[in-house]
Amino acid sequence: MEIKTLTVIGAGTMGRGIAQMGAVGGYDVFLVDTDEKILQSAIQMIEKNLQKGVQLGKVLPEAQEAAMKRLKATTDRTLAASASDFVIEAVPEIITLKIEIFRDLDRTCPPHAILATNTSGLSVTEIAATTGRPDKVIGMHFFNPVHLMKLIEIIRGLETSDGTMAATESVAVRMGKETVEVNEFPGFVTSRINAMIGNEAFYLLQEGVASAENIDKAIKLGLNHPMGPLELGDLVGLDARLRVLEHLHATLGEKYRPCPLMAKYVKAGRLGRKTGRGVYDYTGK
Ligand code: NAD
Repeated sequence: MEIKTLTVIGAGTMGRGIAQMGAVGGYDVFLVDTDEKILQSAIQMIEKNLQKGVQLGKVLPEAQEAAMKRLKATTDRTLAASASDFVIEAVPEIITLKIEIFRDLDRTCPPHAILATNTSGLSVTEIAATTGRPDKVIGMHFFNPVHLMKLIEIIRGLETSDGTMAATESVAVRMGKETVEVNEFPGFVTSRINAMIGNEAFYLLQEGVASAENIDKAIKLGLNHPMGPLELGDLVGLDARLRVLEHLHATLGEKYRPCPLMAKYVKAGRLGRKTGRGVYDYTGK
């Protein structure tokens, strides 16, 4: 079955980037959100990103125009779902919300449609089990910002079929991405390693082994990471980082115990860039 129409549910940070890559890849794309204003800002941002691509010589002007024509923003999820061959859900990381949406998609999408979730760590198997088509449910873990980051981690749930895997791989390739296949397990590959590095950096800070600046400098210049683990934690949000570690600690055990200093920062409201202060101060004082 050829995939022609793609629906992205949720037009926030991730959904808008996924919709952009789908349209550039030649799919007819429905971008769905409950909030009309978010849809408008998403379309404006996609147009701006593509214009920048044209200026940088990475996107042809006619490709930009064609991509914008293929993109439709709507609040009508049922309308979009009923015309879709492939759906990618990118709503907030709340299991009850995702399950409610997948149950509804299962009712409203054609029987052949594949349903993917962009979850950062929830169970694809659990989401799939609430539908009548668990073999056609899969995880597609994109990275932020979607139009610049090369990788999609493709997550196989327990019942995901080989056909669904192959079709998802082909969608990722049309979006210009590289993929890795991962069997579902808490934290997949990237979130697990990233949480571990970020946690260890916090333990180093707590133990007074080096200053925050020197921990980040050592990892950037010595290990060739583009960002230090503490500045990356501030960018991602220390509350989000702590939640991932708590999940890994609960599911995989002691080595993922969140560093008490990180928990203390979160309790103090020092969540990173978004609150003006995390490990570093962004208030410009
Ligand atoms: P976000 O809050 O920026 O966007 C979520 C969007 O979903 C919002 O626009 C909201 O209005 C919309 N929404 C909520 N309920 C809806 C519904 N019932 N129907 C349609 N739209 C609805 O969130 P995000 O950062 O884009 O994250 C989305 C998913 O991607 C999460 O599962 C997250 O874990 C995952 N993820 C995020 C990142 C990241 O860096 N932000 C990276 C990888 C994966």
